[in-house]
Amino acid sequence: MTLKLADRVLGLKPSATVEMTEKVRAARAAGRRVIGLSSGDPNITTDARIVAAAERALRDGDTHYGPPAGTAALREAVAAREARLSGATYDPADIIITPGGKFALLTSLMAQVEPGDEVLVPVPGWVSYEPCVRLCGGTPVRLDMLDRIDPDKIAAAVTPRTKAIILNSPANPTGRVIPQAELEMVADLARRHDFWIVFDQVYGDLVHDGPFHRMQSIAAVRDRVFVVDSLSKTFGMTGWRLGYLALPPGLAKPVLKFIQHSIYCLPGFVQAAGVEALSLYDELAPTYRALFRARLERAAARLDAIPGIACTVPDAAFYLFPAVDAPDTEVARHWLDTIDVAAMPGSSFGGMGAGHLRLSVTCSDADLDEALDRIARLGLPKAA
Ligand code: PMP
Ligand code: GLU
Repeated sequence: MTLKLADRVLGLKPSATVEMTEKVRAARAAGRRVIGLSSGDPNITTDARIVAAAERALRDGDTHYGPPAGTAALREAVAAREARLSGATYDPADIIITPGGKFALLTSLMAQVEPGDEVLVPVPGWVSYEPCVRLCGGTPVRLDMLDRIDPDKIAAAVTPRTKAIILNSPANPTGRVIPQAELEMVADLARRHDFWIVFDQVYGDLVHDGPFHRMQSIAAVRDRVFVVDSLSKTFGMTGWRLGYLALPPGLAKPVLKFIQHSIYCLPGFVQAAGVEALSLYDELAPTYRALFRARLERAAARLDAIPGIACTVPDAAFYLFPAVDAPDTEVARHWLDTIDVAAMPGSSFGGMGAGHLRLSVTCSDADLDEALDRIARLGLPKAA
């Protein structure tokens, strides 16, 4: 047979984060006691009231197709959340509920990118940005954003084919929060060169230090900002697959055709859980935030004390991104093989991520302490 699958899938880069999670799962199934510091999946049991809301909806027969954009109740709750947190007013008709932030990202790019278009993507940055651009026929153009967004670098990267920029604040893997001045600079450039902005704020509820500014709060670019958000990280709901896309006014109708022909809709009972979660925001979000903050501080101090590791506490989220004095992929392999601690090599996130490790403090406190003990005892691999 000469038939082969399309390059669209054959040429796609695997997700380094998902593959590591599967590796850990397989090692555990084989009896190894691996401590996972590799996946951004909070060890939070979804609050019982959220689970009860889904159960109620299921028992009430919410088991049919629903509106492709999402239930009215959840879209209204999302619009209210946006008004409160970003100050941007959204008509619920401009909100599309998606299976996680990942599909909100893909939906944005499906809507924006023509074959051959270029999209500026942050490096180091989340592993799915480039593949999602490629799935839409676009070409990702990497933009270094390790510790600042440099207007000269953007100016140098922009071409007549630039269709969009992806910004992630707070950022995975660094935890960096983009300051208002940088958002404004990107907003100016987007207007001047006429490209879309995808603003991924899935860690926006986990800002520990300082203010958090959002792109959709800048009125001059409200007509070109696609906001990607998710309940995964905020509420410990990764497995529920629940996120949203907030669109510029009036753009939802054509985009919804993509939803109609792909997922159609999210389960109603999952969305009922989402409404309940958002109603509990003031109670739950600060509790989870404090939990991660305490772990970040403790773990950063212990890592920083290890020779060859330099670790600071990030402004947000639940990742540490220490610089290591050894090749990062070797360190990650050494820790996994020798002491059963899984961490992500920073080079998985591209560019200047190399030379770092990403450690997610999303396991239990006891496991985190045990992992840190093992790391402190072993240290970095000796130079070859
Ligand atoms: N954006 C970033 C930066 C992420 O790290 C993640 C993590 N998976 C997502 C979006 C999407 O998360 P989810 O699909 O679980 O909402
Ligand atoms: N975003 C999380 C991470 O970076 C979950 C895995 C994924 O979706 O990539 O670990």
